Amino acid sequence: MKWQALIFLGAPGAGKGTQAREVSKHFLIPQISTGDILREAVRNQTPWGLAAKAKMEAGDLVPDEVVCRIVEQRIGQPDSQRGFILDGFPRTLAQAQCLDCMLQAQGRGNPLVLDIKVDHDLLLRRLTGRRTCSLCGQIYNVYFNPPRLEGVCDKDGGKLLQRTDDSEETIRQRLVAYEQQTSPLIDYYRGKGVLQEVDGNRRPETIATELIDSLEKA
Ligand code: AMP
Repeated sequence: MKWQALIFLGAPGAGKGTQAREVSKHFLIPQISTGDILREAVRNQTPWGLAAKAKMEAGDLVPDEVVCRIVEQRIGQPDSQRGFILDGFPRTLAQAQCLDCMLQAQGRGNPLVLDIKVDHDLLLRRLTGRRTCSLCGQIYNVYFNPPRLEGVCDKDGGKLLQRTDDSEETIRQRLVAYEQQTSPLIDYYRGKGVLQEVDGNRRPETIATELIDSLEKA
């Protein structure tokens, strides 16, 4: 593979995490989710977590300096050396420019950017129906991909939790933040000639198979 940094763009609920997980397993490179890292920081009440908590609960973006520091640290770790997948970063133009500098400093070329496009109604059902295993992180959806037993992970019996920011009001604000602050990145990366669009309205397995196939050739 020629690409060393893969970015998943797309609105909340587009399936970035689900697809990034499959690509990560296939290419054996880490999936770096700023949302996951921030949620863990909030749970552990670290300084970053304390700085991020209120913003996350309101569905607003966490300050650029915080997420840029997180990513800089994470992509400097040994397991990122062969390449990495960014899921949920960058989300503002300033973050994208900061990432450009980090990639340049690491001697890496341009990232490859996948923009997952999903219709608005489907996004809402994906977000309101999403449940995550508290043990292994496996993602379910009560409408489209329910577990065999309600509230319990099929794989390890872990309790399935709903993210606190998957409430209707916070979802609305997260979608506004996406439209206003993140969607301009589509043109930014299109201008660099590194953007690929993905139809995210299909079944996750269909998307993953097609995506991995095209990434093998990229
Ligand atoms: P996610 O799990 O990617 O949907 O992120 C959950 C929340 O974490 C977002 O609504 C933001 O509050 C925060 N967050 C995650 N990634 C970023 C980022 N790159 N920039 C700013 N805030 C972020």
